[in-house]
Amino acid sequence: MAEVKITGLHKRYGAFHAVKGIDLHIPDGEFTVLVGPSGCGKSTLLRTIAGLEEASGGTIEIGGQVVNDHRPRDRDVAMVFQDYALYPHMTVANNIGFGLKARKMPRAEVEKRVTEAARMLGITQLLDRLPRQLSGGQRQRVAIGRAIVRNPRVFLFDEPLSNLDAQLRDEMRGEIKRLHQEIATTIIYVTHDQIEAMTLADRIVLMRDGVIEQQGAPLDLFERPATTFVAGFLGSPKMSFLPGKFLRDGSAAAISLGDVLMPLPPARASIAAADGQLILLGLRPEHLSRAEGPAPVPGHIRQEAVVDLIQPTGSRSYATLRLAGAPAMAELQAHDVSRPGERLAIDINMNRASIFDAQTQRAL
Ligand code: ATP
Repeated sequence: MAEVKITGLHKRYGAFHAVKGIDLHIPDGEFTVLVGPSGCGKSTLLRTIAGLEEASGGTIEIGGQVVNDHRPRDRDVAMVFQDYALYPHMTVANNIGFGLKARKMPRAEVEKRVTEAARMLGITQLLDRLPRQLSGGQRQRVAIGRAIVRNPRVFLFDEPLSNLDAQLRDEMRGEIKRLHQEIATTIIYVTHDQIEAMTLADRIVLMRDGVIEQQGAPLDLFERPATTFVAGFLGSPKMSFLPGKFLRDGSAAAISLGDVLMPLPPARASIAAADGQLILLGLRPEHLSRAEGPAPVPGHIRQEAVVDLIQPTGSRSYATLRLAGAPAMAELQAHDVSRPGERLAIDINMNRASIFDAQTQRAL
């Protein structure tokens, strides 16, 4: 087990600058997820920690030791890739134990570790099979088993679930989380899937164009996104951004969206925005609900909206609404909405809404 400390890390591929000065401290035993859109540099960062890429600048410390000049095998990290690359002619047991045997570990110890890893991953009954006799999910478990038996200081996962179908991905996600609870080893996990990031991480590191856009506990990022980029990346369906203006009158504040005036609850009125400042109002689908009762509950405002599009999911329906002239997605009870063109009274939870500066796209 070990902490990982990255200081001023750069990675250039020729003239292309893929990782642009990253500082990151990952405490011992933490499950950190590097997430971001394709090309943001998350795999490059992971591969540089593993030693598969050479850093162009900065330092990587594992367990208090600078490892920049260490070969991958000397870093005591184990990496799991999205293609499991099992040896086709070897049994599951031999695939899992191969690396240990290659390092001349005594046979009895190899067997003990393979048996224990198989138990943790629920594949004991598959140890005598060949890879071609396994499903995709089982193969991925074998690949994880191969990493576990090495008992590394840090696990590195590079999109390990992206070759699996949706159902299996959900199942394996739970397995990986359970595994971390059991072994409590530091994990750095790369994905572009925001649901994987939200569900697995102790801490999310959200990357964009080779830098860290924001990092923190999943719910912190979800509820207090620092930028529209973070707000739009986490959450599905996405947050809607409605252009408007911040208005201040003494201690009272409001947001105007076109002709519609939306008073802000006192808790939100103190944000650092100037009268007349152009803003984006960020509303998540769950911040909008069908109006109930004669008046909205405190902190909510009631507004009429027109339904543009309905996407039922079963118990809930996602409805694209026209709200104060702009499109906004609402998550409603399935029976709260019936047809496009319908007019609905919607209650908006202004306590939960995000407010961004329209120009900088940063949260106010
Ligand atoms: P994805 O989710 O698509 O894998 P990523 O965030 O993991 O994306 P990286 O694979 O780290 O992105 O790549 C970051 C950038 O560096 C990309 O623009 C990519 O084209 C570039 N890049 C990666 N490897 C190389 C290489 N060997 N040579 C040149 N450019 C590279």
